[in-house]
Parts: sequence; C-alpha cells; structure tokens
Amino acid sequence: MGDHDDIAQWRAAASLPEVERFFLDARQRIAEEVRTRRPLCLASGACCHFEAYGHRMYLSGLEAAFVVARIDAARARQAANPLRVLEVASARERGDCPYLAGGLCGAHEERPLGCRIYFCDKGADGKGAEWQSDLYEAMHAETIALHERLGAPYRYLEWRAALALFAGE
Ligand code: SF4
Repeated sequence: MGDHDDIAQWRAAASLPEVERFFLDARQRIAEEVRTRRPLCLASGACCHFEAYGHRMYLSGLEAAFVVARIDAARARQAANPLRVLEVASARERGDCPYLAGGLCGAHEERPLGCRIYFCDKGADGKGAEWQSDLYEAMHAETIALHERLGAPYRYLEWRAALALFAGE
C-alpha cells in the first residue's frame, strides 16, 4: 500500500462520527489536565521552531487526516486555501511549522494533540515532563487502538511530513 491508499483510508475514517468523538474527547481531557496542572507558556511559539528548539511533533495518519480536514474547513470559511506543498517545504527550510504566524498558532483551535500537551514549563516541582509524557503515551496508545479498531493503516508521522503528504494529494 502506498501513500495514496493510506491517505484515502485515513480520510474516509476521519469523517466517521466515532473518530470525531475520539479526538474531541481527547482534546477535552488534555484541556482539563492542563487546567489542573497550569503549566505556563513561557516562550510563546518557540517550540514550534522545531529545529532551533530541538523539538519534534509527531502524530498518527488518522489524526493527521482529522486535523487537516478541520483546519482546511476553517480556512475555507475564511476564504483561505488549504496548505500547499510549497508552504510546507518553506516551513521545513525555515525549521518551523507552516501554521506559525507572528509567534502565534494559525491553527490553534484545531491543532494536534501533541501541540496541546507539550509545554516547555515543567512547573516548580519539575513534574511537568512526567505528566506530559504519561498523558502523551496514554493518548498515543488509544490512538493506535483506534486505528486497529477501524482497520486503518497505522503510521506515526512527523507533523510537516504528514502535512506534505496531505497537501500533495
Ligand atoms: S500547529 Fe500550531 S501549535 Fe502546533 S506546531 Fe504548528 S504553530 Fe505550533
């Protein structure tokens, strides 16, 4: 199976109500944890400069399809085009995320789970790294199980690699 077949299967699965419920519920659970832990965003947008910051963001093919569809729909409502391959390539050259604009996330409402969980602030007791990785691992395991339940191919993709795949279709 090639990229084209995988993308078609992810897109079809991403439109299922079960998948929407899964990711919206995951977003809510993350938001509740963040509200409880109250990490600070100390360097707004710095972690979205992946190369300079030494951080990478990954997600599954199904999550990428879900997120990209929702970002594209939001952009369409604002009469903006979906992301193009060239924009993803430029972001890779700069070392940042193609949605980053003026230090802010241009896809804030629909950003992936990994973007919602990661904070550079580890808190006064330094426990931030622990709860973030525990939460991330739990969500990741549930996402893999969702792929399996739906029979959707599982791939773990770097964010911009995923965006390039979808923009190229
Ligand atoms: S989607 Fe938003 S939060 Fe996530 S890496 Fe891109 S700019 Fe940063």
